[in-house]
Amino acid sequence: MKIARVRYEGRVLAARVEGGTVFPVVAEDERHMSDAVRDLIADGRAEEVLSADVPGVPLADVELLSPLAAPQKIVCIGLNYADHIRETGLQTPEVPLAFVKTAHCLTGPQATVRVPRGTTEQLDWEAELAVVIGRTAREVSAENAMSYVFGYTVANDVSARDAQFSDGQWFRGKNFDGFCPLGPWIATASDVPDPQGLAICARVNGRTVQNSSTKEMIFGVAETIAYLSRYMTLYPGDVIATGTPHGVGMGRDPQLWLSDGDVVEVEVEGLGVLHNPIHVTG
Ligand code: ZN
Repeated sequence: MKIARVRYEGRVLAARVEGGTVFPVVAEDERHMSDAVRDLIADGRAEEVLSADVPGVPLADVELLSPLAAPQKIVCIGLNYADHIRETGLQTPEVPLAFVKTAHCLTGPQATVRVPRGTTEQLDWEAELAVVIGRTAREVSAENAMSYVFGYTVANDVSARDAQFSDGQWFRGKNFDGFCPLGPWIATASDVPDPQGLAICARVNGRTVQNSSTKEMIFGVAETIAYLSRYMTLYPGDVIATGTPHGVGMGRDPQLWLSDGDVVEVEVEGLGVLHNPIHVTG
């Protein structure tokens, strides 16, 4: 099943998507940090509830939002593709290198990423496979880890490289508003039999800049969940962005930074496309 959050007729709803039709089922309440999809996952009833027989709406008539609004955490894995490590010149990590983006970064699969003028001169993209956790995971083994996966989606780990590397740690450079386009929906795990065999790519203004496969990951999905869950509990709706392959702007010769009016597309095979224009404001 494909699960989306959509804005339709002024309301935000959790919906299933079938082809070009959206079936909005559950209205999200308007309180701060509400997240209808996260709550359905946590209740263990997302697919059951979203299977409801409700009237369909053409996909073109809704605004697709980030499929999760307020996961408890978004854990990102850095330097997790061998080809990307070579282009950065950094050392291959011996264990997954984890950092965090928080929910305020999330934005929709077609939303404009607005960057205030003067805040970065080195705006970059990172195409990533994102894993959505389905049930509470604590000290799980790699052998059992996949049973904790609810589904998969696509993330763009937008990064301001100047901010990222001038601070000594990555929080600011990875956490501007809008720096985590996510979506266009969550494909449940049964729709993705092998997450380590998916083509992954990014395009800037239609030109392919990243083109790889999730089989190039150093630490795969199962190993990453097992590793993280030794240290921190993973909760339903938590997102793990599993790192990016080669071809980010920082690693190119010459380097390529995003600027006002550029359009970044990120695609993972079978999971859909993120299409995010960049707008430098002010
Ligand atoms: Zn990343």
